[in-house]
Amino acid sequence: MPIQHGLPSDFEASAYDMVVVGAGYAGVVVARSLAERCGMRVAVLERRGHVGGNAYDCLDDAGVLIHLYGPHIFHTYDERVYNFLERFTHFDGYEHRVLANVHGTLMPVPFNHRSLLIAFGEQRGEQLYRKLVETFGENKKVRILQLREQKDPDLEAVADYVYENIFLHYTMKQWGQTPDQVDPSVTGRVPVMVGDDDRYFQSPYQGMPEGGYTKLFENMLAHDLIDVFLDVDARDVLAVRDGGVVVGDRPYAGEVVYTGPLDELFGLDLGDLPYRSLDLQFQTLHQDQFQPAATVNYTTSEDFTRISEFKLMTGQKVDGVTTILREYPQAYVPGTGMTPYYAILNDENRALYQRYLDRVSGIANFHAVGRLAEYRYYDMDGVVASALDLADAIAATR
Ligand code: FAD
Ligand code: UDP
Repeated sequence: MPIQHGLPSDFEASAYDMVVVGAGYAGVVVARSLAERCGMRVAVLERRGHVGGNAYDCLDDAGVLIHLYGPHIFHTYDERVYNFLERFTHFDGYEHRVLANVHGTLMPVPFNHRSLLIAFGEQRGEQLYRKLVETFGENKKVRILQLREQKDPDLEAVADYVYENIFLHYTMKQWGQTPDQVDPSVTGRVPVMVGDDDRYFQSPYQGMPEGGYTKLFENMLAHDLIDVFLDVDARDVLAVRDGGVVVGDRPYAGEVVYTGPLDELFGLDLGDLPYRSLDLQFQTLHQDQFQPAATVNYTTSEDFTRISEFKLMTGQKVDGVTTILREYPQAYVPGTGMTPYYAILNDENRALYQRYLDRVSGIANFHAVGRLAEYRYYDMDGVVASALDLADAIAATR
């Protein structure tokens, strides 16, 4: 059945072997896997008016392909994930490069050999680089927090520079906290590169899906056994009650795959899971190109974290016009229409998440998966891997 809007009045959950909540990577990958592997009939309920979750893309009024929920670049080390998605798209091999604007000077991020020469000058930069190579080896990645532990004065000079000019202000904007306060895995995503590699990701598989992400999702959902219902908030029909799942007020015996925030399912009754959100400001400019790299991080100035220019990452050819995006981080306030983009990882929040999870972990046919439902800082590939694992687990029971 084609993707439709709204839930028909004669919708019967019992006609489906599985109800999936959310049409992002988590939900769609499970739906497709189990429809084709086990012949399961699947209903996908999505509260937005489109598929793709946060990876959704579309043409804006100027005809430029934009990522409505922030710039998305696919990258993975996981061959299984790549092989699965490649069945539904072709990744073009695009490699993302990012520059930091440090007090008006542009230099590569991750901070690398060339950044060092720009920041410290050729002679001193080269001397510091030798010290980094002696200490860590060439073509090695070093987390900023690890670099800051070094006692050598030269390495301390590098660490101080990178901490202050690349991480501190950007992280304060993004998280409202310093790099020492956020979970180390967060800043660890962008390590210092002791080497010349200036790519943002070093993974063997990377690229943009030809025709865009939305097309990739439409292709995954194009299966006779999958029905998609957009503009449907699953909580209007689905609830966890008395140790089981209820759909349309009747106990549901099929599988339920839930990819939304877990606290929402329970009306936030234990308290809300904290997230960071973004105010995304798009701007269309009547010029061919705005900036020298697809993304420029503003690491010492401005209220926004970064500017991304879509044409430079999608490779789309449109003359005389370009669309850029500024990301302004903000605290997420539930119930205001904001999007919960980033889970705020710390022990307290994980413990709260665990209390919500405990409520569903005994329900054999209820599965929480994805960036929201697992309260994780997943990239797209991590979500796909988790969804494929879940599909394996469900398939094994049938
Ligand atoms: P989502 O994409 O959030 O999908 C969940 C879906 O469930 C949503 O569509 C939501 O509307 C729906 N839903 C929730 N509750 C309900 C309900 N009650 N009823 C019905 N539907 C519901 N990853 C990368 O690999 N590379 C990148 O470059 C990258 N850039 C990013 C940039 C930004 C700004 C952000 C925020 C994320 C980025 N990511 C990137 C991460 C990527 O977006 C996620 O890993 C991925 O999209 C998560 O998929 P998901 O299915 O878990 O969640
Ligand atoms: N970061 C930073 N300066 C940069 C790039 C990243 O301080 O120039 C830190 C910041 O805390 C950020 C984290 O590293 O939240 C992860 O960056 P990444 O680009 O992976 O974030 P995402 O693309 O997921 O928003």
